[in-house]
Formats: sequence, C-alpha cells, structure tokens
Amino acid sequence: MCYAIPGQVVALDGRIATVEYFGERRQAYNEFPSLKVGDFVYAQGGFVIKVVPPEEAQEILAVWKETFFELQEVDLRLARLEVEREGVERRVLRILDKALEERPLSKKELLALLGLQSPRERELLYKVANFLRRKYHGNATCVHGILEISNFCFRNCAYCGLSTHNGSLWRYRMSDEEVLEAVREAVEVYGFQALVLQSGEDPGRSVEELAELVREIKRRHAVLIFVSFGEIGLEGLEVLYEAGARGILLRFETSNAELYEKLHPGYNLSQRLAHLERALELGYIVATGGLIGLPGQRLSDILEDIFLTRALSAEMYSFGPFLPHPATPLAFSAPPSPSLVLNTLAVARLVDPKNAKILITTAFETLDPRAREIGLLSGASSLMLNVTPLRFRPHYALYPGRAHEEETVQEQIAQTLRLLRSLGRAPMDLGV
Ligand code: SAH
Repeated sequence: MCYAIPGQVVALDGRIATVEYFGERRQAYNEFPSLKVGDFVYAQGGFVIKVVPPEEAQEILAVWKETFFELQEVDLRLARLEVEREGVERRVLRILDKALEERPLSKKELLALLGLQSPRERELLYKVANFLRRKYHGNATCVHGILEISNFCFRNCAYCGLSTHNGSLWRYRMSDEEVLEAVREAVEVYGFQALVLQSGEDPGRSVEELAELVREIKRRHAVLIFVSFGEIGLEGLEVLYEAGARGILLRFETSNAELYEKLHPGYNLSQRLAHLERALELGYIVATGGLIGLPGQRLSDILEDIFLTRALSAEMYSFGPFLPHPATPLAFSAPPSPSLVLNTLAVARLVDPKNAKILITTAFETLDPRAREIGLLSGASSLMLNVTPLRFRPHYALYPGRAHEEETVQEQIAQTLRLLRSLGRAPMDLGV
C-alpha cells in the first residue's frame, strides 16, 4: 500500500530539487548529498525523504498511471464552477468574484463570508474554495498518520479531556518499544511516509528521551516526523530538530490573547507563539491553527486565527471545532455548527490559496460524519489517519466519541482510498 506517488528529480538547484510526476512539478528541500537528476524520490511536506530504486518507482508509477488521469478528470468535473447564482445576494457574488480573480479581500468581506448562513450562498463559497484548491494543488491530498504516544498531561487547558481537570482518565505512556513497533507497522506495513507523534505535556518523558526516540525512528525508517508534544521549550525544539524531526504540529488554539489566558490559566499566548516562531527559524514545517467555536470567541477572532496561521508561514492549517468534554470546565458549552467549520476551511483557502494544506480534523469528523467529503469539496486538502494501537486509542480522550476510535488502520485506509477515489483525489504529498 502506498500513500505517495514517487516523482523523478528533473532539476537540482543547491538544496532545492524539482520533482515531477505525471507532468506535475513540485519543489522539495533535499538533504541527500548524493541525489542527482534522474533519481526517483518520495517527498513529503516539502522534504525529499527517500530515494527509491528506479524499478520500484516505475512499478508504482505504472500502477498509478492507469488511475491518475481518471482521478484528475473526476476532480475537474467536481471543481467546475457551474453554480446557481439565483438566491445569492449581489454583495456576496461580488465578493466571491473578487476571490476568484484573486484580488485581496478586505477583513469586512472575509467576515461576511465566514458568517454566511444561507445554504445557497454557502454552497457558492465552498465551490469557489474548491476551485482554488484544485487550481493550485491539483488533486494532491496528503494523508499523514498520527500516533498518540502518551495521554499524560500537566496542563489545565479548559477544553481538553487530557488536562488535569480530568481526574478519572486512565493514563498511558507507550514504551519506546511500543512506539517503535507502531511506527514500523505504519511505515513498513501500511506505507505511511509522514507521521505525527503526539502527546500531552508529559513530564514522564524528557526532551532528551523524546529526541532519542526520534533519532531511533530516523535510523530505522525514511519517514517525515512531525512532533506534537506541546510547549517543550525553545531549546527542546532545537534538540528535536537535530534528532531528525522536520515538522511540528502545534496549534496556537486562539489568536485572542485574552481568551487564550482565560482558557489556559497561568499561561499566555506569546509563549506559545514564541515556540512557533522558533520552530520556523529552525526550519521546521509548521502545522498550526485554532479551535473553532470556543465559548467567548467571535467570528472576527476566527478570521484573525486564519491570518495568524498565514503570518506564521504555516504549511498546514489545522482548524477543528471545539467539542465539550464532560470532565472539563467547558462541559456545558455548545459546540459550533458544522457550517461554521466548513466556512472556516473555505475562507482559509481564500486567504491562502496557493500554500495552504488544509486539514480535515478528527474533531470535525466527530461533529459531522460527512466531514471528510464535504470538507474536501470546500477547500480542504489533507487528512490524518490514526495509527495509535487500538488498546490505547480510546484513552486519548480529548473529547467524547472521537471518530475512528475503534477502526483498525486497514479499515481507515480502505475507507480513505474509497473516498478519495470517489472525489478524484490522489493520496500524495510531493513537496510544495
Ligand atoms: N500537547 C499537545 C497536543 C494537544 S492535543 C499540544 O499542546 O499541542 C491536540 C489538540 O487537540 C489541541 O491542540 C487542541 O486544539 C485539540 N483539543 C483538545 N481538546 C479539545 C476539545 N475538547 N475539542 C476539540 N479539540 C480539542
């Protein structure tokens, strides 16, 4: 099983490799000194991660070739802009026309889109977002794996089921051997090329121990590792980068500093942003974003969250709905509507049409079982599958009833491939 299509290096300029597959070109950062033009590679998230023997690459390409152009056709058909303009306010039409011409939209205009309620108008917004997604990203969809290595956490985030508020949660910490085995299976059996390692802020495993784990994974496998361990300190970021991590998933949660402090008593937004800025400086690929629908959050806060994500040069936008957890102070706050989540993904696409990989989060899938399908048709382009061993997965209880809690990795892969095929998308991530 393969989640990436190998590409051929057609040009090398210093450390930037231009990689081509089926006539599409992407650029990726190369760290292999011996790489040369003509080699076949896998690239993930903008990094060349593996050189593939030509016979193997050609075999995979031959299999893909049959379906690749078929998929493109389906995607093109679904992304066509034949839309019913009737019943859509003139003002909304004007804003969306401007978006299609890629003229910058004002805050006021973007806010109007974010707040759209009428189904007709929302449908038009989603179509425009989907059109722009296809224009810049083709049918490439990145599918990463996430492994939740520990649910211990000493933080007090008001929304989170792993926080200290939840005294009744059974806590687990996967041993190094268990992590290595889960990574081996994800990479060797299922073909994942990029994995996120995530946990609460767990004092039981030091940064040095985390770094050793990342080093060991990199010794054994050619896989892009994202770290998602929360605020591990600016030096910690450096230690993990040196160990071989190249991506970080760290949401700033909300760009509203006041709201941030309310939800995280004793902590502040600038400390979190300092991590993201340092990660960028170090060369990490950054995935970040915020929670949608937090109590006390305004629409304009969500728009600022999108702007902040862009300002942080995020390669991946990770925005998901807040879902109330009964053991937290926000137990009785209502989650947002699925339409607000979709509006957010679509507006993020309009704000950053060329660069953004926009993730459909598990929280969105938990809120609405059709999240993947409707999200991928509204500007999103990225998914994560949960590769945490089934015996631990229910205990990573950020919020109740998490989607895919009981599905094996095989089942998730089969479902994902079926869905991507029906939408004309190819599961790949060949650089930027
Ligand atoms: N310790 C890591 C991982 C935190 S859990 C870190 O700080 O980055 C991963 C994400 O789950 C969080 O960033 C948060 O946005 C999300 N999350 C936590 N509780 C949630 C809830 N109740 N509803 C929706 N998302 C939640």
